[in-house]
Amino acid sequence: MNWQSVIGLELHVQLATQSKIFSGASTTFGAPPNSQACAVDLGLPGVLPVLNQQAVVMAIKFGLAIGAKINLNSIFDRKNYFYPDLPKGYQISQFETPIVGAGNILVHMADGSTRDIRITRAHLEEDAGKSIHDLFPGQTAIDLNRTGTPLLEIVSEPDFRTASEAATYFRQVHGLVRYLKICDGNLAQGSMRCDANVSVRPVGQEALGERTEIKNINSFRFVERAIEYEIERQIDVLENGGIIERETRLYDEIKDETRSMRSKELSEDYRYFPDPDLLPLQVSESLLTQIKQSMPELPEARRNRYHKDLELSQYDATWLSADPDVAEYFEVAMKHCGNAKTTANWVMGELSAHLNRYDVPIEQAPVSAVQLGVLIQRLDDQTLSSKTAKTLFEALWANSPQSDTDALGDSDPSTAIDAQIQTLGLKQISNSGELESIIDTILADHPQQLEQLRNGKDKVLGFFVGQVMKLTQGKANPAQVNDIIRAKI
Ligand code: ADP
Ligand code: MG
Repeated sequence: MNWQSVIGLELHVQLATQSKIFSGASTTFGAPPNSQACAVDLGLPGVLPVLNQQAVVMAIKFGLAIGAKINLNSIFDRKNYFYPDLPKGYQISQFETPIVGAGNILVHMADGSTRDIRITRAHLEEDAGKSIHDLFPGQTAIDLNRTGTPLLEIVSEPDFRTASEAATYFRQVHGLVRYLKICDGNLAQGSMRCDANVSVRPVGQEALGERTEIKNINSFRFVERAIEYEIERQIDVLENGGIIERETRLYDEIKDETRSMRSKELSEDYRYFPDPDLLPLQVSESLLTQIKQSMPELPEARRNRYHKDLELSQYDATWLSADPDVAEYFEVAMKHCGNAKTTANWVMGELSAHLNRYDVPIEQAPVSAVQLGVLIQRLDDQTLSSKTAKTLFEALWANSPQSDTDALGDSDPSTAIDAQIQTLGLKQISNSGELESIIDTILADHPQQLEQLRNGKDKVLGFFVGQVMKLTQGKANPAQVNDIIRAKI
């Protein structure tokens, strides 16, 4: 039988506010355990939650970015469950009336195709604390610093059909929330976590199959692997006559498998009811207007601009616009040299290869965007060949002279780079007299090949160009070498 997999994602985005969603305690990461949970976060008797306006503004920004309905009236509910890292015995969340209603996200796949994913809703809620099982043998430690951290939970419809679509969406939302500056995007610190709901059904069947939910995955790669594993597991169970039961599973990164954690609670289990300590949230039209006016250029708009105005391919435009820091770097370099296509090639090629190899984030690249812009200028004005440009890039990367050019302040950043081109002897040989004498020597040294060339064996031309490039250490202009050799025979 042929199976179709169906996936829906719930993304938890930690909002980048300074204080908690209902208290004034700090949200800074990495503080000593339990030093950042105040009486409100602990739910001590007599305290009252006060809603953080910044969290509301951030949620609305996200809603506007995905063209969603913004609910000007929304309600905070108590979601009741018992767990050691939830001191109040309930989590404040939004249930029937979330702040952000239905919207859409157009997911751009690497092969250039797109998927239109429906977003069900996005609601505000508070995070729970953290249970740490591997600190003290046989005991569980509880750190409540995270308690009350504002989260935006983004729920998608079950619109993904492959693990790769789901992972691409996760990546894209990661880019979007950083464009909006509503989340720091730090996956390692848990700033974005994903729950993946997975089911399979026979191809052609309308009704969805029973699903399982894989909890708390915080890496793009692991989301993809966990879903792939779970799809295979479910198909296996069904093909062996078993049934899939609604349950929550955990993904084990080391064994690369999912494991049953508990049977899934249904919403009835949580006894949701409106939190009597919080008034219904009312967003004024004027606040909404103000937020609309503060919206930055979004990745989708940037992508279209790169494709239409800068005439980059769809693939390049998607690649360069996905991450705000990459887009920023690209634009600075591109504005400096005025050559969008070459800048795109360098950012996506040499630069990105170096960033990956040395595991450096682009904001800390040892070659600054302006330096790359100058390098491309020197390629365009033929001071550098593509080979010597790479040598220069290596040198800039290794010497990390980014601060040198910064230190020059308003002086021309190209001065330092031109000096470096001089010092390293990278300047392309453009003096045709000099080239001619080099070519004469090489032709004289290879009489047999010269004979073949004279007899019309054009392939030998490449041999001679290669010899010249070798002798000049890549500093000759190949087109010019070609012309001179042709003229000589
Ligand atoms: P719950 O209340 O259990 O969290 P929801 O109805 O809110 O359930 O759905 C949670 C997520 O599960 C959503 O992202 C939704 O798209 C997804 N989902 C629902 N049904 C299925 C299914 N049969 N297969 C895969 N995903 C599903
Ligand atoms: Mg849910």
